[in-house]
Amino acid sequence: MSDTAVNPDPIVGIDLGTTNSLVAFCDEAGPRILASASGERMLPSVVRFLAGQPVAVGFEAVRSAVNFPRETVFSAKRLMGRSFAESQGMADGLQFEVVAGPRGLAAIGSEGATILPQEVAAVILAELRQRAEAQLGCTVQRAVITVPAYFDDGQRQATRDAARLAGLDPVRIVNEPTAAALAYGIGRTGVAETIAVYDFGGGTFDISILQVIPEERAGDGILFRVIATAGDTHLGGDDLDRALAEHLLRSAGCGSTGDRAMDSLTPATRQALREFAQATKVALSERDRVDVDLDLGDGIRLKRSVTREEFESIAIPWVDRTIAACERAMGDASKVAIDRVILVGGSTRIPLVRARVGEFFGLDPYTALDPDCVVALGAATQAAVLQGTRRDVLLLDVIPLSLGIETVGGAVAKLLTRNASIPARAREMFSTSVDNQTNVKVHVLQGEREMVADCRSLARFELRGIPPMPAGIPQIEVEFLVDANGVLQVTAGERRSGCRAVVQVVPSFGLTPDEVDRMERESVTHARADMHHHRVVDLAVNAALDIKWISEALDRTRSDLAPAYVQSLAELITKLQEMIERARATPQDVDADAFHAAKEALDRASVSMHEQSIARSLRGMSTQHRERIP
Ligand code: ADP
Ligand code: MG
Repeated sequence: MSDTAVNPDPIVGIDLGTTNSLVAFCDEAGPRILASASGERMLPSVVRFLAGQPVAVGFEAVRSAVNFPRETVFSAKRLMGRSFAESQGMADGLQFEVVAGPRGLAAIGSEGATILPQEVAAVILAELRQRAEAQLGCTVQRAVITVPAYFDDGQRQATRDAARLAGLDPVRIVNEPTAAALAYGIGRTGVAETIAVYDFGGGTFDISILQVIPEERAGDGILFRVIATAGDTHLGGDDLDRALAEHLLRSAGCGSTGDRAMDSLTPATRQALREFAQATKVALSERDRVDVDLDLGDGIRLKRSVTREEFESIAIPWVDRTIAACERAMGDASKVAIDRVILVGGSTRIPLVRARVGEFFGLDPYTALDPDCVVALGAATQAAVLQGTRRDVLLLDVIPLSLGIETVGGAVAKLLTRNASIPARAREMFSTSVDNQTNVKVHVLQGEREMVADCRSLARFELRGIPPMPAGIPQIEVEFLVDANGVLQVTAGERRSGCRAVVQVVPSFGLTPDEVDRMERESVTHARADMHHHRVVDLAVNAALDIKWISEALDRTRSDLAPAYVQSLAELITKLQEMIERARATPQDVDADAFHAAKEALDRASVSMHEQSIARSLRGMSTQHRERIP
């Protein structure tokens, strides 16, 4: 093949889906899906682990799932990068057993073995890799892989680990909605716009609102900013299959309304009925009516015709739930004007879905590309840019959630904010909170809230060897560096002494999408309370240090000062001390402006001690308002 002659080390694009996965490649002719030897484009994300047998993947694993329900792993993506504790409550509906794996990670228990979700994903990726190698006629070692926009560092890291396990270098992790937009060539027009990507798949629903910032304004390339995401991790085409199956069964006289009629069937019959219902659903996307005839044994026979309206009356509650999520996302995005709507995922082939989405956004959705393939095609487009085959779209990746460090009092100083494009670098100066402090603890956090307790801890490390100095004097520089792969490195150093400490942050597990959702929502709801709390905590810390320095300077110079002046300083100190105590006990009740004014009054009054050089230099430091690390 000509493209392999040009590119001996091709980069492929992979959509690692909850239900189905695909691999694509882009050359001068454009992106295309790489199919299996038998011509299948989609690979079901299903893996069977049976002791003493080779691992089975895709359709083969799906076919035997009825016989091996506990050995067949579906939807492993739901567990990627999650702790066992987080997986509780989301494991319902999964047939296999979820157990605690190494480091408390969620894992799959099968015949006594513990399998990590990364390992399941690796089997799927390895199969796609082989497929690509067969099609391209060369070895494939690099891939661009997509993940949902709400995936946090832990989940992205787990995806990278899965790629490495499959012998693939994950050259870039790209958000699924961004890939879909790229497949449609969005961003190349040079116009800033806002797009909605509606992704209704097999087991999950995601809506993402993206802002596209073209080249001239973004600097080096196109920036896709995720401004809002919403969705439901337990809402997809599988629900429609189950609802239609229940409906068909009831119409044949089995079970009454409200009953789960399917529960009375054997697992094999249930599976057969579900597959039948899915085929019926898919057929009804094309036709107005299908005739069905299925013998379920035990005298149950489904022989009738099913109309599209009948299916729509069953599907409507689920479709309405997706629209409700769209409403939430639009609310979070402050009801921005949407310029385009893109449909992604197999379930968007349902005419009712297209109609509802079009109605909600008041726009005709983009449907020219196959909704099953659009994410993989976009991933391949990005791969071609990284490869140098295409020069038109250089996608800038962004940080999904803000990153910062803990400061005294449990507040978070954010160094990099959500949506900053990567690679990114941020540097900030901090200082110590206690005299002669030789170590500082650096606590790295992720999240949108102001206080540590409301954010996710990513790493902790210590900077040692700071020479003893009064609190507030050391100049501690903290630097955050996020490389093009999204890997965070944090460096802390003390300027005068040159001591340094570095940590590469590899989070062990991530947030649940619900948590990310909640954290984003709460950051808006609680923003004011949080900021007040943060400000009061900072004021208390700085005011206490001011009192300490001023009292010390006062002790040294008291004999040279007028008694009335000393008395007025003492009163200001007492007043500020009271406010500090109140701030520590009930920060929510403290008037931050009055607190700030009291601190300023003391600072101003103490200026008369200026002839005392030590006092002056110390006060000079105190007015820099550096946040302090515990
Ligand atoms: P995921 O992104 O979760 O891996 P997909 O995008 O592959 O999922 O979507 C799979 C879902 O799409 C399945 O529930 C499947 O039944 C459904 N689907 C595929 N084609 C059609 C169709 N023509 N009409 C209705 N549903 C469809
Ligand atoms: Mg998908």
